[in-house]
Amino acid sequence: KIVLENVVKEFNTFRAVRGVSLEIGSGELVALLGPSGSGKTTILRMVAGLEFADQGAIYFGDEDATNIPVRERGVGFVFQHYALFPHMTVGENIAFGMKVSKKARSKQEITDRVNDLLRLVKLEGLNDRFPSQISGGQKQRVALARALAVDPKVLLLDEPFGALDANVRHDLRRWLREIHDELGITTLFVTHDQEEALDLADRVVILDQGAIVQEGTPEQVCREPNSAFVMKFLGDTN
Ligand code: ATP
Repeated sequence: KIVLENVVKEFNTFRAVRGVSLEIGSGELVALLGPSGSGKTTILRMVAGLEFADQGAIYFGDEDATNIPVRERGVGFVFQHYALFPHMTVGENIAFGMKVSKKARSKQEITDRVNDLLRLVKLEGLNDRFPSQISGGQKQRVALARALAVDPKVLLLDEPFGALDANVRHDLRRWLREIHDELGITTLFVTHDQEEALDLADRVVILDQGAIVQEGTPEQVCREPNSAFVMKFLGDTN
């Protein structure tokens, strides 16, 4: 499980994250939902170790991970704009993380693992394509396979389907849920799309201006929004 305790992040004098406390259970899929600028990405980057908290602590299980660098955290991430390497094939993109990770693997092990991952994300046979030869939805599947290649303990997703059209987004949502259920991996998912969060997550954490305003299951937050802000935000469709 991941625990954030009173985490604060400032950029110069601007407080982007204002004392956030949050627990993500082992195997849970939690969505961070909020409007632009509410601090979602900054929180995710602190969990990833790409950014460090100014105050507060972050635990991975019993371990204090607050100041542990990204490479040692055992996280996989997919960002909307975390593009694939254009000069590498699909297979090479997926293998990349395994080659730079500390765990030594033989060539055959890497090939087998790449094929397993391609099966998992339903892209068998596309090893030799280049990113320019596959669709946007397929690219995000490859990005997820790459994130999973190092057997992360935690999966972090920042608007992974943001750039795709509505139909593809809907399909990928279903598919991500299936993969999550199959692997049971602890997942934190950032989105500004309330429909996506409510549809996908076990639990939704709603943020406004760097602070949590409400959290609960999708049913709970829809049935009992605790403020005019939450009511309006969940009611908006974009
Ligand atoms: P979006 O949905 O637009 O990505 P968000 O909820 O993810 O928004 P963040 O990206 O976490 O929000 O940003 C929170 C606030 O912190 C914003 O006001 C942003 O301008 C500010 N901020 C984020 N990163 C930096 C930075 N590196 N330097 C200065 N300010 C930053």
